[in-house]
Amino acid sequence: MAGLVTANILAREGIDCTVIEKKEYPFHRVCGEYISNETMPFLKSLELFPEGFGHAQICRFQLTSVNGKSAEFPLGLGGFGISRFSFDQFLFQKAKANGTQFLLNTEVNHVHFTGDGFEINTRDKKLHADVVVGAFGKRSKLDVALNRDFIHLRSPYVGVKHHIRTDHPSNLIALHNFQNGYCGISNIEDGKSCLCYLSHRNNLKEFGSIKQMEENVLFKNPFLKSIFSNSDFLFEKPETINEISFEIKKTVEDHLLMCGDATGMISPLCGNGMAMAIHAAKTLSELIKDYCNEKISRGEMEQTYSRQWNQLFAKRLWAGRQIQKLFGNVRASDFAVNLACHAKPIAKFLISKTHGQPF
Ligand SMILES: Cc1cc2nc3c(=O)[nH]c(=O)nc-3n(C[C@H](O)[C@H](O)[C@H](O)COP(=O)(O)OP(=O)(O)OC[C@H]3O[C@@H](n4cnc5c(N)ncnc54)[C@H](O)[C@@H]3O)c2cc1C
Repeated sequence: MAGLVTANILAREGIDCTVIEKKEYPFHRVCGEYISNETMPFLKSLELFPEGFGHAQICRFQLTSVNGKSAEFPLGLGGFGISRFSFDQFLFQKAKANGTQFLLNTEVNHVHFTGDGFEINTRDKKLHADVVVGAFGKRSKLDVALNRDFIHLRSPYVGVKHHIRTDHPSNLIALHNFQNGYCGISNIEDGKSCLCYLSHRNNLKEFGSIKQMEENVLFKNPFLKSIFSNSDFLFEKPETINEISFEIKKTVEDHLLMCGDATGMISPLCGNGMAMAIHAAKTLSELIKDYCNEKISRGEMEQTYSRQWNQLFAKRLWAGRQIQKLFGNVRASDFAVNLACHAKPIAKFLISKTHGQPF
């Protein structure tokens, strides 16, 4: 998301830009696929809003606790739902049409700053660039190559995503707690729903398979049991990832400008990782443009980006980490549902702290 949006902006400005992606579009990935409406003005202004896909408009929020207590309230700004399969493919095609070069099915093994630019190594190519944006997501081979601090810390979370057909209201995003995890469900295009959850790896270890974990842990929440029992599952097997880290990361490493989850990941329950990736891409692209037009030096570009990134996102990441503590166990999730029922202004205030302003 961060890389495709950066490429779209820079290519439109006539800046020579190459995206190196280890997979090939379109592809599915683990993501709740709810995008905050704060991105709407920016996406529309660059014709990057995915019109015509039949995306869902989402404006209501439901929260349920581990043992099935429920609260519902309006979402404020709200968001829209579209699969990454469709949205990433759309952004890829737009970037190509704007003049971006793509190297697909190509993994970057190493990036090295040479003093006045970068050398980028893939299995069979050596490339050179004046500026490199690290938009390689939450965890990559490159984090190991760069010896980034967080990569040495183990993270206990696994992420699982299903696409389903079920009777889910198209304007609702629901967050259902279960022991040591939580599961989001909201609609995407064509009336399909995305069911995506984060679970502690001990749940998986204890029950041995995703299916057994779902039946023995997620089903204890009656809302989840009902969804799983009354839906058609559209993938042969779910998309999964592990080692999801919420550690703080640096915005610039060896002159590499990090963008999106590579700079730090907000807990998924906030539904804002994509909005942050898009906003960071916009902020960074403006500085890269100034650097390429020789208006600022590399040092100024790096320092200004770090400062602006902190101003925009540091508090949000912190708020996301605090709110995540209200999830994934009986007492905390009951407390969160009670808060949402009886102290709506506080609940709304907490949610607003994890969201940004339209840009
Ligand atoms: C369970 C879960 C649910 C979520 N739900 C939501 C949600 O509902 N709404 C929301 O806004 N956010 C959500 N997020 C967060 C969101 O998915 C991320 O914040 C967003 O995808 C970040 O975009 P990115 O560009 O940084 O990384 P990505 O979208 O992950 O892209 C990184 C890309 O880099 C490629 N790559 C990695 N290493 C290399 C390499 N060495 N060489 C070449 N290519 C490489 C990968 O193949 C990938 O395509 C969720 C996350 C999780 C884990």
